[in-house]
Order: sequence, then structure tokens, then C-alpha cells
Amino acid sequence: MNALPSVGFIGLGIMGLPMARHLLAGGYPVTVFNRTASKAKTLESVGAKVAAHPKETASRCRVLITMLTDPAAIRQVMDGPDGFLAADNPDVVWIQMSTLDIASTMDFAATAKKKGWGFLDCPVTGSKKQVEAAELILLAGGPAGLLEAHRPLLMKMAKAIVHAGDVGAGSALKLCMNLIVAQMTTGLAEAAALADTCGIDPARIFDVLKESPALNCAYYQIKKEPVLKKDFSPAFSLANMLKDVRFMTKEAGGRGLDLPVTQAVRALMESALQEGRGDKDLMSIYLTLRRNKKSG
Ligand code: NAP
Repeated sequence: MNALPSVGFIGLGIMGLPMARHLLAGGYPVTVFNRTASKAKTLESVGAKVAAHPKETASRCRVLITMLTDPAAIRQVMDGPDGFLAADNPDVVWIQMSTLDIASTMDFAATAKKKGWGFLDCPVTGSKKQVEAAELILLAGGPAGLLEAHRPLLMKMAKAIVHAGDVGAGSALKLCMNLIVAQMTTGLAEAAALADTCGIDPARIFDVLKESPALNCAYYQIKKEPVLKKDFSPAFSLANMLKDVRFMTKEAGGRGLDLPVTQAVRALMESALQEGRGDKDLMSIYLTLRRNKKSG
């Protein structure tokens, strides 16, 4: 008998696909579902069972993981006759790992409770490189006992877990962390655009960063190639970061907190989206800045 709990994994995008692969490599029996079925098929050769619909995924598991774009995508796989809530399975812990706003996280926790399921709010930090190396940092909200019971499973995808508090706290902390990422990305994009404008090769910015332990960090080095080669294939899509920036401004505004720099970042990202860069990496705001440059 397999002592490891069966896992249902819904959402096999940039993040979800390698996360599910790590669980399979760790010996967990995993049933996957993805809207675009071809992505789920790629995991069959490494032992995944592919479900026909989300209901089947949740019927077969003790732990259900969702790693989808946003609350609307979760509702799409949750509701209806083939949605995962329709599964006749009373014994499930739902670990929600997408980045969401706090209110939606609380709603989903209440939905799970009504069904008699456990719920962990467990978004992640780290991007393509870290997820592929199983080096995510998980920001957890929920009962400590439930988190501890699932720590071995979660650590197959991560290098650390920070327990932020009750359900909702994981999502809140995740938005705080992405606020830093959004502003660092914008800072780098503006510095590169200013360098261009002053006739300096933006490569020199990275030369200086490399020599400056106080300013340098792995994130800037990850974004070096995209900036210099203008290759904005997504590690983290602009559309997904903008979704999070909208959540940040909503959460702050609802609590009477002004975030002036984040508002400016949001305006820049909204224009990048209008220009059709939603599927590109968020670093593509660099092109928006260059495009917006006025002559003279
Ligand atoms: P992604 O590559 O765009 O994948 C999104 C996933 O959601 C795909 O499986 C997609 O299915 C599914 N999906 C979207 N809309 C759907 C709908 N209406 N119905 C059913 N399924 C739907 O995104 P990702 O980068 O993996 O990000 C996933 C989550 O993690 C997001 O909340 C993101 O903010 C967060 N996150 C991302 C990063 C990063 O660096 N990429 C880092 C930390 C956290 P299809 O395959 O059919 O499109």
C-alpha cells in the first residue's frame, strides 16, 4: 500500500506543471487536470493519471492542489456538474497555491468548510527557475497542525515554508512580496530605458550591479538576458503580475492605505497590457517605456 496521500493537481501552467512533476518524482500518486489537455498528457509518461474533468481529479485524491491564474479560473474548475466540488469525496484537504486576493481566498476556504474539507492558503514565491529546481518559498495561511501534516508533501516543491497566520495571511503576504517584485522590475526597466536615452548600453547597468554587493541580487541577474536580448518569453506573465498589482491596490485602498508608487506601476502595466503584452514576461514593460518616449 502506498503510504503517501493521493494528490489531485489542477492547473499545469508555467508553475503547476513542474510542481506536479516534483510530486510525481517524490513518489506521490498524482491525478492531474488542465483545461488545455495536451499539458496534462505530458505528465503521463512520468506516472500521472490524467482526469477527464476536475470532478474526477477531486474524486481520486486526499490532497487537492489548485495552481490557476485567478479566482475566475478557480471557479471555472470548481463549479458545475464536472467541477471539483461535485466530487463525492468527503475527505479532502484543498491546498490553494495560486496568487489571489484575500477576499477570494476567504470565500474558497468557506466553500471548502461547507463541504467538510480542510483548506490551506498557500501561494508561492519564486518563478520559472525556482519552481523547476523545487526551490519555491511557500507563504502559508491556515491551522499550524494542518500545515505540519502536509509539510513533507509541500517540501517536494519548495525550499522553505513561512507560516504567515490564519487563512488569508498567506495571500496577504504574497501580495506584499509581489509588490517588491513589481517595483524592482519597474526600477530596472526605467533604469534601462534611461540608459538608452542617455546613449549608454543598458549592459553597463548589469556590469555595475555585478560589482556592487549592496545593490546586486539574483532577480536582476535573471532579468539581464531578457533586457539585453529583448526576449520577453514569459517566466511570469505581465497579465498575471498586473492581476496581483490590482489586488494590492484593492487591498490597500479598502484599508485606507495609499500606495502611490504601486499605483504608478499599475498604470504602466495597464498600458503594457493595452499594447498586447499580457502573455509576455512582466519585464516587457521596458518596451512600453521605450515606446512611450517622446521625441525631443
Ligand atoms: P500560467 O502559466 O498562465 O498558467 C495558468 C493556469 O491556469 C493554466 O493551467 C491555465 O490553463 C489555467 N487557467 C487559466 N484560466 C483558466 C480558466 N478560465 N479555466 C480553467 N483553467 C484556467 O500561470 P503561472 O505562471 O503558472 O501562474 C499560476 C499562478 O501562480 C498565478 O496565480 C500566478 O500569479 C502565480 N505565480 C506565478 C509565478 C510565476 O513566476 N510564473 C510565480 C509565483 C506565483 P491552460 O493551460 O488551459 O491555459
